[in-house]
Amino acid sequence: MIYKTFCARMDHGGCGILVHVEEGRIVKIEGDPESPLNRGTLCAKGIAQIERLDHPDRLLYPMKRKGARGEGKWERISWDEALTILSGKIKKAIESEGPQSIAFAQGTPKGLELFLLLRLANLLRVPNLSTPGNVCHMPRETASHLTCGFFPIPDYDHSPACVVLWGSNLLQTNEEGIIGSQLLRILKNGTKLIVIDPRKTGLASRAHLWLRLKPGTDLALALGILKVLIDEELYDHDFVHHWTKGFEELKDHLKSFDLDRISDTTWLPKEQSLEAANLIGKTKPT
Ligand code: SF4
Repeated sequence: MIYKTFCARMDHGGCGILVHVEEGRIVKIEGDPESPLNRGTLCAKGIAQIERLDHPDRLLYPMKRKGARGEGKWERISWDEALTILSGKIKKAIESEGPQSIAFAQGTPKGLELFLLLRLANLLRVPNLSTPGNVCHMPRETASHLTCGFFPIPDYDHSPACVVLWGSNLLQTNEEGIIGSQLLRILKNGTKLIVIDPRKTGLASRAHLWLRLKPGTDLALALGILKVLIDEELYDHDFVHHWTKGFEELKDHLKSFDLDRISDTTWLPKEQSLEAANLIGKTKPT
């Protein structure tokens, strides 16, 4: 029997999956080609869902270490005993060092568990709570708001003609678990790719143009690309007129830069900045 369902969100994806069941056990999971989200692909976590259920090392009840740390010796204890030990240690830490001596940490929240943990921390007056979001999603969202004023999401369903990956390795970071396969799909359909990265990533080797700039000189390159876009009138005049502020000041600022100086700073031949700006300016939509 094959059941059509969706991945139980080991991240935020919710990809469509086909679950093969034999004699009451899941024997295979594959991507659902009819899912508009993942279109038949699955990430490694999705494929490993069977092990979430059946792996012999899956934790099914509280375990307490016995013997020395690192010895790998554990014994099963009851939930009552586990809760008594934990609450006793928390109480002791608060009494002796105060609530700020405690930190809670958890993996990527998929449901309400973060709010339960927040509530617990509030009740105990513990100010320290951390998730991978502090190093993963939040910097991305904060930088997007500061740069664009909102949180832009690439629209790979209406294929852009040109994609710029600036210091971003989507096949490894794979935001939302599916963005890497979405990018590969549009590249197969002819989308042009510009990669700006000192490292030769897998995507850099597939790029139409790879700008291997000197680390830390991204802003100089951005100024160079802006200068070409403006000098050669490659920008969207209507958008600039209706939606930007300070464009004339930017133009004035760019007058003091020339591409030779930017090339010296970034270690990139100036032809590459020119080519990147022309690709960005002329290949629509980017
Ligand atoms: S990206 Fe992976 S883990 Fe996330 S929903 Fe899809 S298959 Fe599951």
